Amino acid sequence: MSRRWYRVFVSGVPVHTEQPPPSGGDGKNVRDLLDLDDDALRRHAATHEAGHVVVAHHRGLPVEEVAVDVSITDGNGLPLVGVCRYGPFDVPWQDFGATCAAGGRAANRWLRQEGLATPGRLWANELSTGNDQVTLAQACADLPAPVVLTYGQPGVAGGYEWADLGDAAEAELDRDWPAVHRVADALYREGRLTGSDIDDLI
Ligand SMILES: [Zn+2]
Repeated sequence: MSRRWYRVFVSGVPVHTEQPPPSGGDGKNVRDLLDLDDDALRRHAATHEAGHVVVAHHRGLPVEEVAVDVSITDGNGLPLVGVCRYGPFDVPWQDFGATCAAGGRAANRWLRQEGLATPGRLWANELSTGNDQVTLAQACADLPAPVVLTYGQPGVAGGYEWADLGDAAEAELDRDWPAVHRVADALYREGRLTGSDIDDLI
């Protein structure tokens, strides 16, 4: 059964969410919508990035650096409270796709685990995957046989569902959740980890 998706524009950039947008969310930035104190916001960002790191590690993508800084925004106004930089890789695009989708899924799980999962926060958490959606859509469009990233449109020729990548990532995060915690804790403390730091943690 296909899932229902919502599309909103953040500074002109389309972002897709399964959680319906709450009323009163227009015009607010993601940080305000998450409505977390600075400490919890940093943990949220660290867990999001740790999700990318752990699935990247599983899938053979080298992580060169990962960092969190809750003061960063990108040029489009999208939240860039964390960043994960990969070295050159040669893996099937779905492995990069699952890696991209893992951040939001990890942070979603963390919100639920901490008793912080309100509908508004879950929506804002999905908004915080906007950069991941945009990055992957661009990578898919640049493939020799281009793929269209889809949201609730299974069966589109050349299409691939973002949710399927997320489900695959989430299964890996479930199996290796202690590693997500280790990376998130270190990232929360240090603010930045290198590839060799990560190798020591996973
Ligand atoms: Zn991300």
